[in-house]
Amino acid sequence: MALSGLCPDCQGTFWVRVETQRGTAAKRCHCYREELQTARYLECGLPTRIAHLTFDNFSAGDYFKERKKYNTLTAAMNKAKRFAESFPICKRKGLLFHGGPTTEMTHLAVATLKLFIDKGLSCMFCDYQMLLDTLLERSQPEASIAGASKALAQRIRDVDVLLIDSLGEHRPSRWTIDTISQIIKRRYYSEQCLLVTTALPLKEDPRGSPEASQEMRAYSPLHDALGDRIGDESVHRILDHCEGISMAVPAPGHAVGGKLRR
Ligand SMILES: [Zn+2]
Repeated sequence: MALSGLCPDCQGTFWVRVETQRGTAAKRCHCYREELQTARYLECGLPTRIAHLTFDNFSAGDYFKERKKYNTLTAAMNKAKRFAESFPICKRKGLLFHGGPTTEMTHLAVATLKLFIDKGLSCMFCDYQMLLDTLLERSQPEASIAGASKALAQRIRDVDVLLIDSLGEHRPSRWTIDTISQIIKRRYYSEQCLLVTTALPLKEDPRGSPEASQEMRAYSPLHDALGDRIGDESVHRILDHCEGISMAVPAPGHAVGGKLRR
């Protein structure tokens, strides 16, 4: 499935005519390779709307008008890209994007995941709420639903790289905290790669400055910290397992970076 309009050279058939000495022959169009690559991204669960995101099309904002934002986002992008390029020959086993606008955090996490896919690692994109909803269906009586949920749980366990987008986005139940705790604990002890984005402030701010905490809280209207949503133990494991990338920019007077629509 093409992400944009039809290819003008093959009109979406992936075949073009070429003239040879023996007559007309069919040859794969140049867009075929790109299509295979896109299919690989979609197989990892990336929603079509965001499957095109890369480091190259990441916008760090207007340099002159929002200098501080530009610097923060550029530094975040460089850090994520360095990590993705050096993985797995690096100290940490994941990235935690936090404190910034959800759209930009998701963009960098997806760009990182795609570099891992290009490296041949098995990868999986999960929206936090959809992940929990699907896993919750495991307890449903319908065999087909329970089977899909079981397959998802198995894939989460086995995949080389797991991306959890918008971690802690919704208020938790005991079941939610226990489920996400199991997933994080397993990846932590198995040293499996974990990529996380969260708009919630961390209880333990790696930068340790009150200003940073204040900035990050600006993005959390309910003033919950991540630990309130997924449990402090899981937050500690993530901080130990992942390299933190703070994307907190100066707090505006109003909400910033609307939720990414899919
Ligand atoms: Zn084509």
